[in-house]
Amino acid sequence: MSSEVSTECLVIGAGPAGLQASYLLKRAGRDHLVLESGAAAGTFFTRFPRHRQLISINKVYTGWDDPELNLRVDWNSLLSDDPELLFTGYTPRYFPQADDMVRYLGDFAVKNDLPVRYGTRVVSVSRPDDFVVRDQHGVTYRAKRIIAATGVSKPNVPEIQGVEHAELYYDVSVDPQNFVNQKVLIIGRGNSAFETADALVETASVIHVAGPGSLKLAWQTHFVGHLRAVNNNFLDTYQLKSQNAVLDGHIAGIRRDGDDYLVKVKFQRVNEVVKEIRYDRVILATGFRFDASIFAPECRPQLTINARFPDQTSAWESVNVPDLFFAGTITQARDFKKSTSGFIHGFRYGVRALHRIHEHRYHGVDWPSRAVAPEAVTDAIIERVNRTSALWQLFAFMADAVLFGPDGVRYVEEVPVAYLHEAVARGDFGDVEEYLTVTLEYGADHDKVNPFDITAGRTSQEDTSGLDGRYLHPVVRRFRGGELVDEHHLTENLENEWDSERVHKAPLREYLR
Ligand SMILES: Cc1cc2nc3c(=O)[nH]c(=O)nc-3n(C[C@H](O)[C@H](O)[C@H](O)COP(=O)(O)OP(=O)(O)OC[C@H]3O[C@@H](n4cnc5c(N)ncnc54)[C@H](O)[C@@H]3O)c2cc1C
Repeated sequence: MSSEVSTECLVIGAGPAGLQASYLLKRAGRDHLVLESGAAAGTFFTRFPRHRQLISINKVYTGWDDPELNLRVDWNSLLSDDPELLFTGYTPRYFPQADDMVRYLGDFAVKNDLPVRYGTRVVSVSRPDDFVVRDQHGVTYRAKRIIAATGVSKPNVPEIQGVEHAELYYDVSVDPQNFVNQKVLIIGRGNSAFETADALVETASVIHVAGPGSLKLAWQTHFVGHLRAVNNNFLDTYQLKSQNAVLDGHIAGIRRDGDDYLVKVKFQRVNEVVKEIRYDRVILATGFRFDASIFAPECRPQLTINARFPDQTSAWESVNVPDLFFAGTITQARDFKKSTSGFIHGFRYGVRALHRIHEHRYHGVDWPSRAVAPEAVTDAIIERVNRTSALWQLFAFMADAVLFGPDGVRYVEEVPVAYLHEAVARGDFGDVEEYLTVTLEYGADHDKVNPFDITAGRTSQEDTSGLDGRYLHPVVRRFRGGELVDEHHLTENLENEWDSERVHKAPLREYLR
């Protein structure tokens, strides 16, 4: 093998994001290479989630025959032109097994003949001029730009005194028999913590799940990284007095005491009462982080959110290293705990937008758009909000745009809202006098109300003047010179269909007049 390889774009990581990027680069005929340290595509899913069930839904039967609509409830497929390469064809399970994801990603790479070098771990990235990347064999790769799709490969270990005593979700035993009759503390508030607790309910004598702040439930906050119902059986065992508990507080210290651990918990509910509790096992399930250690100082990306993720511009470019881009779960820094960039059903659209940004910036290819007659703008918007999976999944983060310029009206799909404003201001979309953004959004305080509490009441779905922000609904905003002029919210409804002439179309047409 030649000791130096040159390519235009180097993609690091053959997880779902790296494969999605490579698929789009290949389809556009762009020179690129993917380097993957694992022996197969989707290496992350060969190990995680530890208890092997994905929390991304796989709804095979939708009653729809529109592939775009189906992607609203298929959270695992990558975007491609091949209907055979839909994850829904790999398993009928609503919550699929991680091994099915590994199989799917492997097929995706092979069937698209993507240029992936497996067993190739990047050990250093430097930038004398171009990027120079070296792998564990000493082979170097030279590239004009990099798409780092390396995922969150490191456990996130919070600063707790004695934290070294804790076992990590990353490699703790997943055999419940290993915890028989033991008292177990799981530190963490997310799905990994509760997935682990659920798995021990039958064998451990007592399980405590601890962490600061109020526990957030995904069905209330609409953030799929908060606790999902599929992982919350444990809450029953707590509230129905079966010895287990959720502890609301900070872990102030862990120390050994013979074969046991004494853990200092600072409870948040009552004047920070501090209690030391005895456990047989302590497990840390406090998330993951991006690994920046492979980057040499001259091209080390700045980090954000407790240094867990690379800090990124609206184009997913490093804020301090030009031509270094990010794709996949690490782009969640851009919509942290709000929208879905941390998950396949979010970042797959992010990668497509990133590709269009590269096509424009590096190859002068304009963002795809279509001309719309001024009187047809309402119908164009209505058609999209009733079909789009991208604006549905990346709510409030991804938009369509309607651009009004001297040569007429153009409709542009799937542009990140923040990037759109900057790109219009830069003139990337040509001469634009005024533009509209079209997004799907939850309203203010959507996460404050218990959706199952009927006393909370709601606005009638027929009411064109009112809006119940708790529900996902289309929002159209008008901008001139980058400044928000006004906005229009389409009344939400149970069916998530905005095609009523009286309730949806006429008010929108009136707003656009
Ligand atoms: C515990 C857990 C469970 C999750 N469950 C789900 C879920 O059910 N559904 C969902 O949609 N999302 C889930 N996610 C979120 C997220 O989608 C996944 O993390 C997904 O794997 C992200 O894809 P990615 O391509 O960004 O990164 P990864 O899938 O992590 O891919 C990165 C790839 O880069 C490779 N790599 C890393 N460093 C190097 C290097 N130096 N050199 C070469 N190769 C390298 C890795 O081997 C890996 O194959 C979960 C996340 C976690 C932490």
